[in-house]
Amino acid sequence: MIRVSIFEGKKVALFGLGASGRATALALQAGGVEVAAWDDSTAACAAARGEGIPVVDLKTADWGEFAALILAPGVPLTHPEPHWTVVNARNAGIEIIGDVELFCRVRAQICPDAPFAAITGTNGKSTTTALLAHILRSAGRDVALGGNIGTPILALPEPAPDRVHVVELSSFQIDLTPSLAPTVGVLLNLTPDHLDRHGTMERYAAIKERLVAKSRHAIVSTDDTYCRAIAQRLQARVDGSADVFSVLGPVPGGWSAEGTRLVCDAAWPGFHGPFADLDGIGTLRGRHNAQNALAACMAALRLGVDPEQLPPALATFPGLPHRMEEVGRLGSVLFINDSKATNADSTEKALSAFPRDIFWIVGGRPKEGGIEPLRDYFPRIAKAYLIGESAEAFAATLGNSVPFDHSGTLEAAVQAAARDAAHCSGAEPVVLLSPACASYDQFKNFEQRGDAFRRLVTALPGVTVTNRS
Ligand code: ADP
Repeated sequence: MIRVSIFEGKKVALFGLGASGRATALALQAGGVEVAAWDDSTAACAAARGEGIPVVDLKTADWGEFAALILAPGVPLTHPEPHWTVVNARNAGIEIIGDVELFCRVRAQICPDAPFAAITGTNGKSTTTALLAHILRSAGRDVALGGNIGTPILALPEPAPDRVHVVELSSFQIDLTPSLAPTVGVLLNLTPDHLDRHGTMERYAAIKERLVAKSRHAIVSTDDTYCRAIAQRLQARVDGSADVFSVLGPVPGGWSAEGTRLVCDAAWPGFHGPFADLDGIGTLRGRHNAQNALAACMAALRLGVDPEQLPPALATFPGLPHRMEEVGRLGSVLFINDSKATNADSTEKALSAFPRDIFWIVGGRPKEGGIEPLRDYFPRIAKAYLIGESAEAFAATLGNSVPFDHSGTLEAAVQAAARDAAHCSGAEPVVLLSPACASYDQFKNFEQRGDAFRRLVTALPGVTVTNRS
């Protein structure tokens, strides 16, 4: 745990008692700060009390006593309207910050040069963060991995000269972190997302830009309009530069992925041309993963990893569960769990990674537009297995273009897809769970859906289970 003594001897209000809120309260208490914590959920308040965190009804509290409001990132700061705690804090004239800001201030106080990598983007954050941590660990570095992935930032070990913090940040977290200035900042991509919480795309992009704006080394994609504009602004600064990268074509003076090959054309000492190849790395299939891998490699190099350490580290990346996760093989048939794909955009990434013979398990609670945007990929699909609430609508979209079964349940879909794929004459048929839908009609969340798929595949007679460790 990181001791946060920034407000030592003072009192702060803290709203939001999920895992990161509770970790924040404990970190503040360990630093001699008096915490008044609250949450709208009775269960969350009870969990906090159980950990010895003082729970105080902030609706009736005297806000004049507080030095700051520490807000959980899930709580609206600006849109659709500021949360009542935000209004109270503004009226009291106190600052509103999050746990990542506390981390940044502790780092500035105890070890300003402690290596700190922060990663953001609309998609690929978790994969890139986990991969960067894996590369650094493979190179023998002490890594603290957390933030928006896994461990809350203040539950990690404290910043130190030879410990690298590798932290995934959402736009909500960045919005609560005014002094964010990492050693390496990565911006992967920007497409419309969370606009209900940020108001406009411009505002969302401006928040994401803050992560790279004050990074010592900024690493920015040039593959979408918003990122390209940010990269240009960074490169135009008198004092600054940005390492730019693309997976859409060569980048003179920059970094690119050409197919599966990662290429450096930047001025990097003793280093030029192709430096790694993702071909055959099952956990990094698809162009989106080339974007993630390239960014992680660039960040690792900026953090002092030797170029020759990159290929073996990439080859041993275990991947993350539920994202194009290889769960097993039965003869030549490959089973892939892509349960995290809860919309057509994400499923497109999975379908584009396999050229043919896809036995596609799809459906759940549909999103607007359904699977219509995936029509270009229909020729790759040998058969679809429809599950969940979306079955009728998706059957209508597939029409006569793709054969399909009304499987209903995931269990029936796995059985039927495994049986059909076993009779496929292709070199590597794929049974792919990539639902393009939310899971809530049949499962608690996408993790539970993916776990169920893994269990069903593992139970198939003769299957070889993929070992991820
Ligand atoms: P995040 O943490 O940003 O949600 P993840 O790494 O968990 O991202 O990946 C979630 C899904 O997003 C993946 O299953 C894949 O469909 C898609 N994805 C991953 N990386 C990228 C990328 N670089 N560009 C676009 N989509 C991506």
